[in-house]
Amino acid sequence: MLRLENVSHSFKNGNEVLKVLHHIQFEVQKGEMIALLGSSGSGKSTLLNLMAGLMKPTEGHIYIADQDIVKYGENKLAVFRRKHIGFIFQAYELIPTLTVRENVELPLVFQSVSPSKRRKKAMELLEMTGIGDKASLYPSQLSGGQQQRVSIARSLITEPSVIFADEPTGNLDTKTEEEIIRIMMALNESMKTTFVIVTHEMEVAAQMKKTIMLRDGYLVQPEDYTTPAAGQRGPNAPSPLSGVPVHAEEAGEVS
Ligand code: ADP
Ligand code: MG
Repeated sequence: MLRLENVSHSFKNGNEVLKVLHHIQFEVQKGEMIALLGSSGSGKSTLLNLMAGLMKPTEGHIYIADQDIVKYGENKLAVFRRKHIGFIFQAYELIPTLTVRENVELPLVFQSVSPSKRRKKAMELLEMTGIGDKASLYPSQLSGGQQQRVSIARSLITEPSVIFADEPTGNLDTKTEEEIIRIMMALNESMKTTFVIVTHEMEVAAQMKKTIMLRDGYLVQPEDYTTPAAGQRGPNAPSPLSGVPVHAEEAGEVS
């Protein structure tokens, strides 16, 4: 479903070259939900933006639905993104002058889907995310958690192959964070949409079956995951997830 091969990325600032991702390789199967962990500055957003086709890596290949998106030109990539990729932002990024329902419908406005079909689909997704009764309100009339539910519904409306979420609960309190994670898990279960969720919060990661971790732009993983880049971190690199529960039951947070 999603496969990265030897992905590296550098930013150039004048004469300076800052290499922020080093030889990243991993695979996500269709229908999986994984957490991408790492402290601030470790390269999570850069990696997510590369996978979502928002920028191109300096090196490597990124396969989504068997297509190497690194090889795509701008136009082809835009079309591919619209069809296959959903994105959930930390700051929701809703359009304030559109109603909740109109925000959710928006991705379909760019495809030739009839207004009545768009509307029906948007309402279904708003019901699924638990805010069907808010459809005719404006984003500013909703709480942060409710706005994130709108953005989740919007990301799903094109039935993408994969949804990337960059710290989707970063602006929310712990209780709301749990609700949002639970909604995404339920949607992953019922719609079989693949999710990659960036977080630096262990309690979020603890609820995912699978986690991968970045440290200083290198991939470091739990032991059941092999990493070709691991050797490059040096012999003394500690195992990042030792002692960290990776299953909900072990974390004792979810019944
Ligand atoms: P994270 O999301 O894990 O906090 P980022 O991917 O945002 O990390 O950043 C990784 C590194 O890349 C940081 O050192 C950051 O300063 C740098 N960086 C991110 N975006 C840019 C950019 N557009 N230009 C230059 N450096 C950047
Ligand atoms: Mg980030």
